[in-house]
Amino acid sequence: MAQIEIDGERYRLAVDHDLCMGTRVCIARLPGVFDVDDDTNLSSATDDVLDPALAAAVREAVDDCPQEAIRLERIA
Ligand code: SF4
Repeated sequence: MAQIEIDGERYRLAVDHDLCMGTRVCIARLPGVFDVDDDTNLSSATDDVLDPALAAAVREAVDDCPQEAIRLERIA
């Protein structure tokens, strides 16, 4: 589960495996952050802390996932 700081707030980035259909749109938006398991056809985010410069691409990946499976949740 990746983490990223956006506008001074920390967020975690995760994929809901109950919704993901393995379309790989997320990989196109954020190569190196998401990976789709060939066996399960489910995407997962890296465990890394992401460069804040990726914030726009992260939001794009969330918006463009056709299954609305990508969660960007603020860490309290
Ligand atoms: S874009 Fe959404 S549905 Fe497609 S692989 Fe990524 S998380 Fe899964």
